[in-house]
Amino acid sequence: MVTPWQIECLLARARSLRAEIQRIADKDHPYREPGIIYDALKEVIDSRVRAFDDALRLGRKSGDGGRLLARLFNETRDELEKVNLELVKAMRVDSARIPFEILRAMSAAAENLLGEKCRAVVRLDPQYNYSIEGCEERFKALKWEPAWRKTLAESGDNGEKQSAILLVGFPSADAGAILLHALAAHELGHAAGNRWRDEIESVRSELVAAAKGQYGSKLVEHIQASARSMMGLGLGVGKSDAYESAARSVVERLERIAEAWFEELVADLVAARLVGPAFLAAFDRLNLGAGQGSDEHPPSGLRSEIISTYIADEITEVATDPVWRIVYEGKHQSSGSKDLLWEIVAGVCREGATRIRPMLRDVPSRLSGEPGLGQIVSVMETHLENGTPPTVPLTPAGDSKDGQIFWLVMYAGWHFRLSLDRFDAFARRFGWQDDLERAETALGSLMLHGLQSFELRARWKTSGESIRRVD
Ligand SMILES: [Zn+2]
Repeated sequence: MVTPWQIECLLARARSLRAEIQRIADKDHPYREPGIIYDALKEVIDSRVRAFDDALRLGRKSGDGGRLLARLFNETRDELEKVNLELVKAMRVDSARIPFEILRAMSAAAENLLGEKCRAVVRLDPQYNYSIEGCEERFKALKWEPAWRKTLAESGDNGEKQSAILLVGFPSADAGAILLHALAAHELGHAAGNRWRDEIESVRSELVAAAKGQYGSKLVEHIQASARSMMGLGLGVGKSDAYESAARSVVERLERIAEAWFEELVADLVAARLVGPAFLAAFDRLNLGAGQGSDEHPPSGLRSEIISTYIADEITEVATDPVWRIVYEGKHQSSGSKDLLWEIVAGVCREGATRIRPMLRDVPSRLSGEPGLGQIVSVMETHLENGTPPTVPLTPAGDSKDGQIFWLVMYAGWHFRLSLDRFDAFARRFGWQDDLERAETALGSLMLHGLQSFELRARWKTSGESIRRVD
């Protein structure tokens, strides 16, 4: 039974949360996409309150409906809590510390990779984490799709297909660190991997089934040990019941780990195609080598091993470049695991990485198949050394391929950062030999400037005629 006072409290919460969203939405945002997120969140609240009001009226009329009201009360309370959490995620998108200049280049890179119109929004994350989430997928997962659709339709782009909105979470402490955006390659790799979902799943289940056979006796021992410890808990479970339930939970866990690790593996390999070992360099910045792994994420030793094998076989020019040695050093030895299931899944991942290679060749890559990559990157680095944008030597094609420049700039930026002679000389030249942080910030600004100037040139190219007329 819900009391009138409880109802009053709930509606007061809905009003105050809505007002808070409005307050944030009214701030001066440099671009319009955050407004769509806020409007959609308000629509979630409004539709909930409408449903609750209807139930209230109905209940009054019929003198019944207490049960329906109680259910709606609980649901609405939980939904408001979720709206609040989503709002917290989407509120720091206007900080002056965000380098907004990166958004267009990143959106173009996402469009080229995913084959749909994308707009990136950056939010500062108080946690030290880098993430990219599609807003539509997020709203779908929360069962708020109608609110999202309604808001998009009302935001009106004259019937033009709306862009996918990507919410990029960036560690607040490092807001200006442009090199970290090499991690976008992995995050977008998750979305890109969806296109082979079925094929990947069938490769995975085939390999897991084979591994179960191969590790048969070890698995039985593992299950027996886990059944023994179950019986040791003194819950009065019989021997065969304990074995059966241990077997079920071991197999379930094995499959869960395989699924999670495989998903990371695919995103890692997409990243390897887009930015090569620069992904590992950026990843080290984020997790500081603390990649022991979990049931959700493979240990970083295994990831680095699989990525470097992939690069060695598929992107030869990058593989033989000594600059990248530093990011592989000291990582591989951690791949031996004490956990039997991890050991099994590690084998499945190694084999799987080889099996999915042909699919990955669909991912457009400036690193693989680009003749003279080393030479292009070296010219880009000369520009960096001289304090000029690294994209000066690149000519826009005026088509969607230009989106790949983002990855090339990330690759060249990291290459320059890790070419220690060149980077040290660069820092010394400006008097920053004792302040490599500052030298790195300057490098980031040059990368940013390069992306922006390239994008302007690309736009001039596609709309050349009209621009000339304006002159
Ligand atoms: Zn991931």
